[in-house]
Amino acid sequence: MAVIPVELAGRGYQVHVGRDVIDRLGSLAAPFVRKSRLVVVADTNAWRHHGERFSQAAHSAGWAIALYEVPPGEGSKSWASLQRLTDWLLEQEVERGNHVFALGGGVVGDLTGFACAILKRGCGFIQIPTTLLAQVDSSVGGKTAINSSTGKNLIGAFHQPSLVLADLATLDTLPEREMRSGYAEVLKYGVLGDRAFFDWLQHNGSQVLARDPEALEYAVATSVAAKARIVAEDERETTGARALLNLGHTFGHALEAQMGFSDRLLHGEGVAAGMVLAARYSARRGDLGDSDASLITRAVEGAGLPSEIAALDMDTDGAELVTHMLHDKKMDAGTLPFLLLRSIGAAYLAKDVDLKDVAAFLDEQL
Ligand code: NAD
Ligand code: ZN
Repeated sequence: MAVIPVELAGRGYQVHVGRDVIDRLGSLAAPFVRKSRLVVVADTNAWRHHGERFSQAAHSAGWAIALYEVPPGEGSKSWASLQRLTDWLLEQEVERGNHVFALGGGVVGDLTGFACAILKRGCGFIQIPTTLLAQVDSSVGGKTAINSSTGKNLIGAFHQPSLVLADLATLDTLPEREMRSGYAEVLKYGVLGDRAFFDWLQHNGSQVLARDPEALEYAVATSVAAKARIVAEDERETTGARALLNLGHTFGHALEAQMGFSDRLLHGEGVAAGMVLAARYSARRGDLGDSDASLITRAVEGAGLPSEIAALDMDTDGAELVTHMLHDKKMDAGTLPFLLLRSIGAAYLAKDVDLKDVAAFLDEQL
């Protein structure tokens, strides 16, 4: 069991990581529960597998449950589902001082978090992330959003949860491919800022993916601690520190967009391929040694994640991929900052990248 603090002035919170976190709901959530009925928003799959354990823990604490199920998939991060959810939360008489529980992956966390950000100008919420990606990334840091027809996550708010309960036993039922996709974000923390963690993952990554309890706990706790440090430094993405979390995401976003944000390429798969591209592009600029670039490629490959975009069969070219990057919201005053690497564990934001050069580089990779 690990407890990681997210230190934000006046609004800090804790992330509990372990296999029995849900079973301890009664004691962990008690400070946030004002009514004897918990208002729970849950992903259908997560609830099917883990709802009973959650209900038992709630019932032993003397709490009933009002449940709202969200169908799986990115489609649930829409205006229509936000409207349905906020209407339901109002029917449940959720007040500003109450907390809503979000149980599921990043989709449920982002949707519920945003609903709570705007419900009566902001009520509390508790994240219970049930995917690896949500445990190491989306449940921590307070970014909440839905998608618009123009792009992903374009309508949203910063709204921090009051508590995060990352129960590792929920990952027992996570499909293999989702597990690998989340692992890309774990690897990202090593590559962007922690060489020792990257080295540890080289030796223990297969145990993490096999859901070995000890390895998984160490990987999730280390990732959460890295995210917590960066979020504490730059809560609202204003100083640049938080931009580090986008390592692999500019390239990855272009790949995801080219695939139509579909199941053909999951977010973590795009990030994995994007990290390899960021590493190779850094090496091409002479910033990163070839041996570090190869180690990153091998770590991605070894996790069963895509490392070669040529193999993705995308029917595109470098110029088109760059156009997708320009539609990404991270663009700043006409320039596109790129997260590049000086070594494994040392990412930096390059603001002098020539997009024609990036397109030429991508053509070589395709
Ligand atoms: P997801 O929420 O779509 O879940 C993936 C799949 O796993 C779904 O089919 C879901 O039903 C299923 N599932 C969830 N928990 C399960 C369990 N324990 N057992 C079996 N199946 C389970 O996907 P995700 O990868 O968790 O999140 C992706 C979303 O997160 C995207 O919308 C992305 O934009 C967002 N995101 C947000 C942030 C942030 O900072 N807010 C960061 C990264 C990603
Ligand atoms: Zn990501």
